[in-house]
Amino acid sequence: MVTTLRTPGPARPGETFDSLNPATSEVIATFPVFGEDDVAEVVARAREASAWWAGLSWKDRRTRLLAWKSHITRYIGRLAELVRTETGKPLADAQLEILLAIVHIDWAARNAQRVLRPRRVRSGLIALNHAATVEYQPLGVVGVIGPWNYPVFTPMGSIAYALAAGNAVVFKPSELTPAVGGWLVSSFAEVVPEAPVLQLVTGAGATGGHLARSGVNKIAFTGSAGTAKKVMAACAENLTPMVAECGGKDAFLVAADADLDAAADAAAWGALSNGGQTCVGVERVYVAEDVYHSFLDKLADRMSEVRPGEDREAHYGPMTLPGQIDVIERHIADALARGGRSVIGGLASIRKPFVGPVILTDVPEESRAVTEETFGPTVTVAPVANLDEGVRLANASNYGLGATVFARNKKAAMAAARSLRSGMTAVNSVISFASVPALPFGGSGDSGFGRIHGPDGLREFARPKSITRQRMRPPVNLTSFSRTDQDLRKILNLATILHGRRYK
Ligand code: NAD
Repeated sequence: MVTTLRTPGPARPGETFDSLNPATSEVIATFPVFGEDDVAEVVARAREASAWWAGLSWKDRRTRLLAWKSHITRYIGRLAELVRTETGKPLADAQLEILLAIVHIDWAARNAQRVLRPRRVRSGLIALNHAATVEYQPLGVVGVIGPWNYPVFTPMGSIAYALAAGNAVVFKPSELTPAVGGWLVSSFAEVVPEAPVLQLVTGAGATGGHLARSGVNKIAFTGSAGTAKKVMAACAENLTPMVAECGGKDAFLVAADADLDAAADAAAWGALSNGGQTCVGVERVYVAEDVYHSFLDKLADRMSEVRPGEDREAHYGPMTLPGQIDVIERHIADALARGGRSVIGGLASIRKPFVGPVILTDVPEESRAVTEETFGPTVTVAPVANLDEGVRLANASNYGLGATVFARNKKAAMAAARSLRSGMTAVNSVISFASVPALPFGGSGDSGFGRIHGPDGLREFARPKSITRQRMRPPVNLTSFSRTDQDLRKILNLATILHGRRYK
């Protein structure tokens, strides 16, 4: 199958690259590599389009974004097939991913005005004669650099929110999923034909680097921590701000009073869905020692029923990025060499391009399988004295993206959820925070910084603008050279009354 690009390619056709089906290595489509000048031209067009888009009313932008959402919903089958072909994931997973993206476009479109519009703030006693307002204006052009693992849902967390905030977007999808990126951009152009508000640039890391250096007003990057550092260095040249959504090493805590069947079911899905190629996938499980063996048995039962494959009944597909299989292999080998034990699977689970489920126990905490992102269908399970020890081990990671707590005691579960140094935590379910569009999504440490989704996600793509408007002349004008010592004394006296009181 060869896809023809309906979005414009570079003016100077040159180098190209192929997108491959990871299960069969069949060529899906060929795409141009956008060079520095090509990216600059696209950004210049985006700059013009951004003025038109920002000039629309909130209602006009909302209508267009909702029309796009409706278009994607009506063509969900077609888009899901494309996602399946480029990533290898099961069709149902592709549909679920698109559904989540649709929910986010809807939320961003409907809430942008409420979150970003001008609002009055209290001006305070010293500035009582002023009306004070804050509003959130578009940044201009946002460059979105996306990964391949959720090629619709993940970049949409930046694209939809940046568009809803009034920006034009230049999107560089992963070189593994350019056809999905192309589909999203052409579908937007079908419902918003007036100006190129959302454009595509294709290519690998170098094209992403050109975008980061192009003078866009912000880069929204999703990918690995290592790449984020390179993108940040490129952004630094123009002081271009950046939001970084990077990887994780998410922990899953099971308390002694947890519903073990539900916990095992959730841990199995969190570790294995999408072949573990999920930034908020479960990679480490810490279980209260009283229930450790019962939980492990249940988890092993569930995980051994799960099967990768290319057929439509398979639970997950191939490893999309061939090089990732070497990382998975290294992590399993390192864990076993350090005294770890495999409960199900092991090195023999690797049958390229597929990797079967693997549970590792007795793995030292300093092993790669515990400290580094594996991004595969493997999980380590370790006993802990209680939730507190689970939290301590979970937090002893350079990553801080998502986490899960299973416990019946609501107070203990919420206390653990708060103590986890993760951006998001799900209690008694797994990854559910990603489906609540009003909740911000993002991490800390090697998991990145900044937030997509929710009000914070809208403000991430806007510039706060503060305005004071003098409503009446002040009794004492402090910002004038005609100010007298007596004026200053009056204001200092007032400050002493207001702020000088002793606090015990
Ligand atoms: P990656 O870091 O290899 O690539 C991400 C994107 O950056 C791609 O589009 C790539 O072409 C581009 N890129 C590569 N080098 C670049 C450079 N020097 N300058 C500019 N752009 C460059 O990541 P990946 O393999 O595509 O995705 C997997 C990673 O993404 C995992 O670590 C995963 O955890 C993470 N991820 C995070 C989230 C999140 O929301 N936090 C979501 C999905 C995936």
